[in-house]
Amino acid sequence: MDKRKLKHYEKLLLKKRKDIVEELDLIRKSLSEGFESSGEISSYPSHMADLGTDSSEKEMLSMIMTTASEMLNDIDEALVKIAEGSYGSCELCENDINLERLDFIPYTKYCIKCKAKQDISIRGIM
Ligand SMILES: [Zn+2]
Repeated sequence: MDKRKLKHYEKLLLKKRKDIVEELDLIRKSLSEGFESSGEISSYPSHMADLGTDSSEKEMLSMIMTTASEMLNDIDEALVKIAEGSYGSCELCENDINLERLDFIPYTKYCIKCKAKQDISIRGIM
């Protein structure tokens, strides 16, 4: 991948990283304030927000926090790869990851084919 492209994805990753850190801050705040400001996390799928009681809401928030922390890890790994020059290739098959996919999920480690295979095996269909 050429340097201009790498810069572009580095920017995307840093922006995403900032968004997630802010989101995590909001969640931590709403956890300590008893959900007065929980409207701020409405960008998550609504079926997850319909769980009802306080305890399941807390559970949901901690789930989101886990997901967000994992995402932060992936973003940091992607940033290391940009620095090392190995960014943009799939960790499994080593093919180049589709650029449209990287624009959408700049922290992805796998090409669309390997990701699909993984999702299927996680669901236990295979
Ligand atoms: Zn692959």
